[in-house]
Amino acid sequence: MTTIMPGRTIGIIGGGQLGRMMALAAKEAGFKIAVLDPTIDSPLGQIADIQIVASYDDQLALEELGEVSDVVTFEFENIDYEGLKRLTEIANVPQGAELVRITQNRIVEKKEITAAGVTVANYRVVASFKELKERVTEVGFPCIVKTALGGYDGKGQMKLDSMDEINKAETLFNHSACIVEEFIPFEKEISVIIQRNAAGQSYCLPISENIHRNHILHESIVPARVAPEVMNAAEQSAKLIANYLQLVGTLAVEMFLLENGELLINELAPRPHNSGHYSIEASSISQFHQHIRAICGWSLREPKLISPCVMVNVLGQHIAPLSKVISEKPQWSVHLYGKEEAKHDRKMGHITILTDDVSRELKDIEASGIWSKS
Ligand code: AMP
Repeated sequence: MTTIMPGRTIGIIGGGQLGRMMALAAKEAGFKIAVLDPTIDSPLGQIADIQIVASYDDQLALEELGEVSDVVTFEFENIDYEGLKRLTEIANVPQGAELVRITQNRIVEKKEITAAGVTVANYRVVASFKELKERVTEVGFPCIVKTALGGYDGKGQMKLDSMDEINKAETLFNHSACIVEEFIPFEKEISVIIQRNAAGQSYCLPISENIHRNHILHESIVPARVAPEVMNAAEQSAKLIANYLQLVGTLAVEMFLLENGELLINELAPRPHNSGHYSIEASSISQFHQHIRAICGWSLREPKLISPCVMVNVLGQHIAPLSKVISEKPQWSVHLYGKEEAKHDRKMGHITILTDDVSRELKDIEASGIWSKS
């Protein structure tokens, strides 16, 4: 295992906010940052030492990133698997390419989660719209059809309440094969972010409870308001998956909690996750610092929650109302990602509030009116 020291260069594939926050953590310790992203001046590009502006599947650009970097990581999973795999042969990519292959395809991901010994919602793989029509009753209604490739923030999925609505799902098959899975009337959504180094040392961050609006993460509440047994079971599931996949780096495991206490795994992300942003202020180590330690071959620090907290996402439509009040909110830690255009529903930043009274804080957030029109 190679240990990478400050002064060396960390290459990051993808220039979004996750890469930016990784870089901010790494720069604190004196690492240099190179980024590969198709846009100039991306959130990470703005603070990187070296910018390579090219598409993610540009093999020469990937090789260039490998050449200028002492270690390469990625900030999102929808990168070119074949390109990443080739890069692992010529550069130091401690996370490998397998994790990307698995998590960029829901069909493969569900099989691997099941093989790790953890439960997912009842589902079927359906290669065509015709097959969906034939097999949807094996799952029953309501159900959700999801494209195998490329979905995020609720894109590439469709809820069906009855056979009458089946045609709504037809266009999903323009993109890829799909899965159809039972609709879960979950009590809560939670996520466990597990981080592991090549020596096999691993830690979970304190578990977050996640509230979505319009399929986009709205709020994370930490610690999740669930029973201690649920916390333990959630951590055990994450550990099973991380060990099975021989994780190096970060894996976010999103779960549904049912009324009877059962947990079902929804999906995996092989990178720092929106539901872990709270850790910058509220944990003894943030998901970004720990990720950098893991990929640089350093020993990991045990994450301890410093204070309960709430994290709220700031989307494009929240920027204007937020800017009116932000200077008068000393408890709100503001993170804006440097995105120029505040498009509707675009993740522009987040706010973290440490608090001993989560329910009061949640009420204050709503009373501020900033998030009322989401
Ligand atoms: P995903 O892209 O799979 O993470 O789905 C985005 C969001 O849609 C999840 O966080 C849930 O809020 C909701 N969702 C996804 N799958 C299901 C399901 N099987 N049952 C109920 N809600 C779901």
